[in-house]
Amino acid sequence: MLQETLVRVLYANQDLPKQSLVKFTWGNVSERDEETGYIVIKPSGVEYDELTTDHMVVLDLDGNIIQGNYRPSSDTKTHLEVYKAFPQVKGICHVHSTYATAYAQAGMPILAFGTTHADYFYGPISCLRVLKKEEIEDDYERHTGLIIVDHFKKHDIVATPGVLLHGHGVFTFGKSAKDSVYHAVVLEEVARMNYLTTQINPQAKPIPQYLLDKHYLRKHGKNAYYGQGKSHE
Ligand SMILES: [Zn+2]
Repeated sequence: MLQETLVRVLYANQDLPKQSLVKFTWGNVSERDEETGYIVIKPSGVEYDELTTDHMVVLDLDGNIIQGNYRPSSDTKTHLEVYKAFPQVKGICHVHSTYATAYAQAGMPILAFGTTHADYFYGPISCLRVLKKEEIEDDYERHTGLIIVDHFKKHDIVATPGVLLHGHGVFTFGKSAKDSVYHAVVLEEVARMNYLTTQINPQAKPIPQYLLDKHYLRKHGKNAYYGQGKSHE
């Protein structure tokens, strides 16, 4: 039900400061409502501890407001482009978490240096190109969505559910709002580990493909055997 989606999106947004992924109001989470196909997203500029379900904004994929009295997050158009292109994406999270954003600002991908990474991201987390001046002047948020879509036409958005925006921050994806926040937490932790790894050994290399395969596929492959049949356990 739509009301349940509003609650899930509220909780997922409230999780951002709890997980130390955001300062002030710098971040947003959305979810696609299964029944209606509408997108539920947080409003722009409302503090996380003041948020209630009444603040949530419901939109269709064209950005028309279906329900809600507040302006949606300024990043809404980016979310909508990704939802339009990838029906398998049900939740999207955007943050400027410190270590991941440091990689984004450096224009560097987050390489798979270890199995923590391999458990959730099946390969490097790419850093996309900087937007062109014309793109920013035309429609910044929509073009941000379009370069994400372009990237994931060539890469599996389910297998590597995160990407860095050069000079900006992070977008992560999932099968729910909560799942996309989970991926943002893992991505930030992996970025922190990578930063430390390259401080200790600037020549450190990604793990071999067979180890990446082993860890990713035991959790996510069709013969997955990790945990108790639920994700993330
Ligand atoms: Zn941002």
